[in-house]
Amino acid sequence: MDKTVLKFGGSNLRLRSDLSTILQVVRMYNEPLVIVVSALNGVTNLLINAVKNIGTLDVDGFLSHLYSMYCEFLGEEFAPLKERVYQIRNMLIGTQLIGEVPDFVHDYVVSHGERCSSLLLKQYLNKMGLNFEEALPEQFGLVTDGKFNGASVDLTTSEKNLKEYFKKDRNYVVPGFYGMYENKVTILGRGGSDYSATCIAYCIDAKRVDLYKDVSGFMTSDPKIVTGVKSVEKLNYDEAAELSYFGAKILHHAAVDPVRKKKIPLYVYNINSFTSIENPDTIISSDAFVTESIVKSISFTDDVAIIQFKGSNVGRVPGILGFIASTLGNEGVNIKSVVTAQTSINVLISSHDVERSQRITSRMKIAEVEDICYKTGISLIAAVGDGILKRHGVAARIFSAVSKQCVNVEMISAGASDVTTYFIVNSEDREKALKAIHGEFFGGDVFERH
Ligand code: ASP
Ligand code: MG
Repeated sequence: MDKTVLKFGGSNLRLRSDLSTILQVVRMYNEPLVIVVSALNGVTNLLINAVKNIGTLDVDGFLSHLYSMYCEFLGEEFAPLKERVYQIRNMLIGTQLIGEVPDFVHDYVVSHGERCSSLLLKQYLNKMGLNFEEALPEQFGLVTDGKFNGASVDLTTSEKNLKEYFKKDRNYVVPGFYGMYENKVTILGRGGSDYSATCIAYCIDAKRVDLYKDVSGFMTSDPKIVTGVKSVEKLNYDEAAELSYFGAKILHHAAVDPVRKKKIPLYVYNINSFTSIENPDTIISSDAFVTESIVKSISFTDDVAIIQFKGSNVGRVPGILGFIASTLGNEGVNIKSVVTAQTSINVLISSHDVERSQRITSRMKIAEVEDICYKTGISLIAAVGDGILKRHGVAARIFSAVSKQCVNVEMISAGASDVTTYFIVNSEDREKALKAIHGEFFGGDVFERH
């Protein structure tokens, strides 16, 4: 029988009473389940800080604090969980002695919150009379590309492993957030349990993936900034992928890709307003459709910087972009996007990669490039919706709404994807721009409220 993959995030694991909420949800399903679980709320940050401050960490004090958190959560002591929590003790002490944290230790420790959650949840569900077993990525073989602190899953190898492992009609609880590369744990980037869930769904040909959150699915924009936002009921894979790629925090940026490949539907629920499986907040599927407003959501990211390669001919001479891209790529800098013109090539990168890129580009010798400059302190705003490029006048509405607020647009790109128009503004104008576009397409207050 086809399985359903469920995922509960850290925001669903704040209080002890959250366990009974999860139980109520789990009881609604009739088919076999794979439940992917994140670390308890805040635990990943605790672990990250522990490795960061390893020199001064009171290892036993830290572990006993963690274990008491789990006991409180579960409402009782549980010896296997104590053993699990203390599994990182030797690693922490060893690391403290050598005074340096190797990448594989970092990823192992940081992923430990998930390994503790899966055991805790399995124990709880069993106690409540449900039959679940725990399965770890190291057991079932979720294999990655080996990139520490931001790995991608090798779907081909993992699919073979998982098909075999999960072939029985049983229920499983699985820790999210990491996979294995040559017997080493590699984490999948912050928020990576969503991505674990969709990769597992891909590998076992799941019927569907249901992600539980504490927010009402995808929104028309970020509710922390824009007032009057609404849930977006339906998105196609491209729209959801673009929104998460361009900053919507609801979903890990790579999570859509595996389910898109197999057309597995993805449902997002707010656990706090959950009524039934039939009522998700957002449904993500292959159905392409155009809404009246065309734009379905507006997201943004501040994690962006531009490298500008200037020269009177750079846009015309073949091979320059290829050289730039491969040189940056070989040194591990990911290029988010590229916009070229006759006299400049603009490469969008993560703001975390600026220093590294500066070192690389200072060594680059390209005859046609007269100047290389960096733009930081900028934000990327993406308006996403099927039809955005085809429907006459939509881009004009976006940019006239923004310009009415006297916001200067630094750079525009449309056409890189069928469903997105994005542009760059100075970060201090980002809020104004978001409100202006949201007001234009969804109504509500457009102006800054002080
Ligand atoms: N616990 C990890 C994080 O906080 C992974 C996740 O929540 O999906 O990033
Ligand atoms: Mg999380």
